[in-house]
Amino acid sequence: MVDKEDWIKVKGDHEPVKTIEEHQQIVARLAKNKLIPRKCRVGTLPLTGLLYCAKYGRRMQFKRRENENGTVWTTMCVYTYPDGTKCHQPGRKLDDTFYKALNYHIVKLNEETLAMVDETNEQQRELSELLSVKEKELVQTEQAMERLFELYEDGTITKQRFSERMAGHEKNKAAIEQEIEECRLTLSNMGNDVTVEIVQQRIDEFKELWQRASSPSEQNRAYRLLIEKIVYDREDNGLRLEVLYK
Ligand SMILES: [Zn+2]
Repeated sequence: MVDKEDWIKVKGDHEPVKTIEEHQQIVARLAKNKLIPRKCRVGTLPLTGLLYCAKYGRRMQFKRRENENGTVWTTMCVYTYPDGTKCHQPGRKLDDTFYKALNYHIVKLNEETLAMVDETNEQQRELSELLSVKEKELVQTEQAMERLFELYEDGTITKQRFSERMAGHEKNKAAIEQEIEECRLTLSNMGNDVTVEIVQQRIDEFKELWQRASSPSEQNRAYRLLIEKIVYDREDNGLRLEVLYK
């Protein structure tokens, strides 16, 4: 069950704006962090290498902070634009709620993918049938052209009649060939390497890996199984995460 933090990818849902105090804390932390080499601050985290800022496509950074409850990680974009201005993307705490909502989102989206794959398979089947019908038509047209040529050779039809009918066949043939080409192109663009079984298997594997993960780097491995990247955008006080699958 995901509680009301299920704001992910729901634009317009509101998260509290950071307070001035929070802002000052962030500024202080940033200043402090500058003194520590990057490698010492960040090891492999669940989202290492996967989280990108929506504004300029740069990788989000992870910052650690210790408080009374232990370690708190925050993600933020520290990119400076070519014109010298800093990226305005607000950061966010990477707490349990964040991961819970993200995982819920990932699994749910995959279930939507399942339905889509199913639909694509159906379209592919229909297109393949259409393709074989068109290929048969092409063979028939070519046969008709041969017969016409024989009739002309036999002297059964006049040259003029031959030319007229041949022109009709050629026009027909070109149209069929174009339809075949379009069918093939659409089929190859659809890509038949993803099946319902593969998607379902990936979801199950992800769930299992995540449950068994006992370290951030194992959690990272679970994400990498499914995800190419996650685009982070925290505009309008709502967080939007766009998940791009492998
Ligand atoms: Zn940014």
